[in-house]
Amino acid sequence: MSLKTRILGLVSALILVASLATWLSYRALSEDIIERWGQQVAEIQVRYDSARLLQSLEREIGLARQMADSSTLIQWALSPNDPALEDAAIRQMESFRANFRDNSYFVALLENGHYYFNNTDNEFAGKQFRYVLDPQDPDDAWFYQLIDEGRDFHLNVNPDTELGVTKLWIDVLMRGPDGEILGMVGTGMELDRFLQDIVDINQDGITTLFVDYNGAIQLYRDRNYIDFASIIKPEGQKNTVDLLFDNPDDQKKVLGMLQMLKNSGGEEGKVASSFVTVDGRKHLAGVAYLPAIGWFEITLLDLQTLLPVSYLWPLVGVFLATLLITLLLFHLLISRRVLGPVMALEGAVKQVREGNFRLPPLPKPDNEIGRLSSHFEEMTASLKDSTEDLQGQVDERTRELHRLARRDPLTELGNRRALDELFAAEIERANREGNGFGVLWLDIDHFKTINDQQGHQSGDAILCDVAHWLRASLRPYDQAGRWGGDEFVVILSPCDSHTLNHIGQRVRSHVETQSNAMGMPVTISVGGHLAKPGETLDEILKQADKALYRAKQSGRNRLVTSDQDERDTETTA
Ligand code: GH3
Ligand code: MG
Repeated sequence: MSLKTRILGLVSALILVASLATWLSYRALSEDIIERWGQQVAEIQVRYDSARLLQSLEREIGLARQMADSSTLIQWALSPNDPALEDAAIRQMESFRANFRDNSYFVALLENGHYYFNNTDNEFAGKQFRYVLDPQDPDDAWFYQLIDEGRDFHLNVNPDTELGVTKLWIDVLMRGPDGEILGMVGTGMELDRFLQDIVDINQDGITTLFVDYNGAIQLYRDRNYIDFASIIKPEGQKNTVDLLFDNPDDQKKVLGMLQMLKNSGGEEGKVASSFVTVDGRKHLAGVAYLPAIGWFEITLLDLQTLLPVSYLWPLVGVFLATLLITLLLFHLLISRRVLGPVMALEGAVKQVREGNFRLPPLPKPDNEIGRLSSHFEEMTASLKDSTEDLQGQVDERTRELHRLARRDPLTELGNRRALDELFAAEIERANREGNGFGVLWLDIDHFKTINDQQGHQSGDAILCDVAHWLRASLRPYDQAGRWGGDEFVVILSPCDSHTLNHIGQRVRSHVETQSNAMGMPVTISVGGHLAKPGETLDEILKQADKALYRAKQSGRNRLVTSDQDERDTETTA
């Protein structure tokens, strides 16, 4: 994986981690804001809904209370079998009927169980006495239950099978002068209209319901949940508010809130709220106690509907765009300021490693990498200088070694290897140009004796002298070398028979005269051969050696060439 990929990967990971942290804190913050907001909305909604409910009910409750307090009705209830009192009471009831919103009323007397009713159509004019309540009849149980409980006021949602309507009943106890219960009066409101007006307010995401003191559902848009005739049901069989929540924790929470509000004694305007799950969706539940009617109002806010997640999409879009732009900018910056220069530097390092010091200009951003590139360029320049310097020294040493390898250290003449190379070049030249060259093979006479008599060191000195005299006797372009021991070889080029003889004699006599002049006589024998084009080195040497051998055989201190008999020193000197 390249450095670039790694760095960009690392940066993306860091940005993602930072974004995740930001996102989580944003979520926590927004949840907190939504909760606070939701609580306020729930409070406002609860107050608003309560006000609407109470507004609709208060007037009716007031009238019902007035009716229960009517002396005409109380007098009659004390003597229910008095026809005159009954007439007056019915007149009184009818006057109340005109005032009730529903234009209906009921009056039930405890003493004889007589139940009076009339409705908006004045359907029962003259026959307001409808039937007699029966303590054993479950349909009439509500009456006896309320009397038993002695609650002066009660709201009850109940279908009246006799009358064929479901109503929200307002029940008020009628009491005699000593507070004894005489019966019950009240009115009903048609549940459907009431639900439509107050509960089923068709506001998306907001659900309102009312539950009674025991948590039994009284008003709810889904009639199946309504706990009809709640009053007569035993505990455990009621449709209580916890039915709405699937999660047992939520059930406990909501019942707990009801309990808490109940305990706080219906403090004015107090609203409790908490998050709950309804139909798999998160809701904020706001609860208030309405002491006037002894009910609770519960408002459920569906946060997903009121504050949909789609609101957050633009934010996610902005976040992604920011991420992309950040990565792009970082990529450009890191490429220009770091990765580009680093890659150029890497290329330069490879080039220098391969021995190429001619670097293209390196990018030098104003940072550590730019300075590194500058240092590298300086280092490369000084490396180039010292390499060239070293190369020069090596070349010189190599030339010196080459020279030394071909030089005889004692006499400073070319050695056997130098002679081999000279022969090879000369043979090739002779073959190419078609003309031969001369070879002289020299050997000092009785050198062993000289060594023996004068010592090895003197022998060495004589070898040096002979070499010196030899060189002095040759033409500048002739080549001489020490073949080994006391033997020397000369290559004469160009050369003919005369030159071969002439120079051969000149060398021999020069050695003789010079050594004599020094008082240390030394002579040499010389074998000469005129090599022709096409002859091999072996053949040439063999011929020269043969001639030298003949010179030695013939008495030494003489030149013998391969194409002639021995020549006497005296004849040519
Ligand atoms: P000839 O006349 O037949 O050549 O007799 P010679 O004694 O010279 O015999 P030969 O050429 O065979 O002997 C060469 C001698 O040269 C043998 C060796 O001891 C001596 N020698 C060889 N190399 C050196 C050297 O570098 N220094 C000295 N002082 N003597 C050498
Ligand atoms: Mg010799």
